[in-house]
Amino acid sequence: MTDFVQGFYWETLPLRGARCRLDGILAELRRRFTPPDALLKLMGEAVVGLVLLSSTQKQYERLTLQAQSSGDLRLLVADMFQGGGLRAYAHWLGGDGRVDLVDLPDALLAVTVDPGLDRDRYQGLIRLRRSLTASLEAYFGESVQSPAYFRIVVDVEAGMAGGYFLQRLPGILSAEEWRVATGFLAVGSDRSLLLAQPEQFLPEIFPGVGLRLQRQQDLHFQCSCSLERVENMLLALGEAEVMATLEQEGAILVTCEYCQQIYRLGEAEVAALFGQEKARH
Ligand SMILES: [Zn+2]
Repeated sequence: MTDFVQGFYWETLPLRGARCRLDGILAELRRRFTPPDALLKLMGEAVVGLVLLSSTQKQYERLTLQAQSSGDLRLLVADMFQGGGLRAYAHWLGGDGRVDLVDLPDALLAVTVDPGLDRDRYQGLIRLRRSLTASLEAYFGESVQSPAYFRIVVDVEAGMAGGYFLQRLPGILSAEEWRVATGFLAVGSDRSLLLAQPEQFLPEIFPGVGLRLQRQQDLHFQCSCSLERVENMLLALGEAEVMATLEQEGAILVTCEYCQQIYRLGEAEVAALFGQEKARH
């Protein structure tokens, strides 16, 4: 099964939602970072939350979900690129045990939308709550001013990640209808929710109201790093510094912290790089 996100909406209710499965991306995060289970769960929650949130964005070049604090969770970032590429990175100072978001000092959650085409980025910023789920719901309440419900599932042991999302749009939706819809997604085990067929169970929420399931968008792990970017960084550092490192280490090794890809440049590559640079001037 490939990873995907799928939006849905009710024809005559101001209510929309999305669901996703990201087992493949969870496996990639595990393979690349080999983080402790608790941290992998948090990274998985960040990508699931971001993907569900992406269903509310018409156009973007990059969406970023970022949590940070001055405590053990220094940084948790998930990026989603136009075209369905995703990556995540976490900098956690704690041990292998619990990853607890409660009581992190100066903890913030930011959602940044980069619309591309030289248009300005915009960002919503809120205080981080006890969980990413609670934080994302608070983000929609405070920053988007449109209530949302998230159910984020990351089962590290089973290798399953995914979830459901509902957003209340402007219009007349009674408090009772909102309660029914969110209550429907809140019941049942995590596993049964992820395995349920949406075309079967979602129409049961409001029998008689048409439900539209949109086309699935395929998702995959992707990083924006490249050899070209690494080379540009080395050119910016300057020949003297790069040559000094080369002499000391025997090669230039650059690891992308977002995907753990290692770029290795030996003597010949470095010479060619600065040779080309000279030839251009
Ligand atoms: Zn990378």
